[in-house]
Amino acid sequence: MNDVDLNVYRHAQALANSGQMSLALQMFRELRSHNSDIEILFAIATTTPNPVEAREMIDMIRNLQPYHPQLAQLETLHKQKIQGAYTADPIGPTLLCPYCQQRTPARIKSRISTGGWVWFAVFFMIFLCFLWAPTTADNMKNMEIAAFFFLGVGIVGMLLIHKRIYICGSCGSKITDAH
Ligand SMILES: [Zn+2]
Repeated sequence: MNDVDLNVYRHAQALANSGQMSLALQMFRELRSHNSDIEILFAIATTTPNPVEAREMIDMIRNLQPYHPQLAQLETLHKQKIQGAYTADPIGPTLLCPYCQQRTPARIKSRISTGGWVWFAVFFMIFLCFLWAPTTADNMKNMEIAAFFFLGVGIVGMLLIHKRIYICGSCGSKITDAH
């Protein structure tokens, strides 16, 4: 690797270590387009959520260095990734991702929707009103019970009102709302 590539490589590694996998992966892919160092193949194999791409990288490494000491570890990681891919999220239609330009089957995930947050905000306000409302010492306990009842309704409702979204099967970015 030349100095420029090495800098990009290190930057991408730092991003991957801090959990910014999709950004790191994009940089590794860019590096790979003009550089076929084995380190870059390793980096892509470990950061990609796409089992097909990981498989491709592992096979390339095996062709280059059949006895590379880290191959076994990479295979184990890959196996876990495949199992995760089949059990974690339901699979949606195949979509073109605007972020990584890959056409992969989307994953379906559940998110709290705007309506859910509004619901919670409304009940949280009611909770505060009951908590702060002027009351007599006798009535204090009842007011507190009412306050926490409304807080509970707010939380349960928020968790129930959710929407489904499509996530890119390759980089994990949100592509669109599912209907
Ligand atoms: Zn993507």
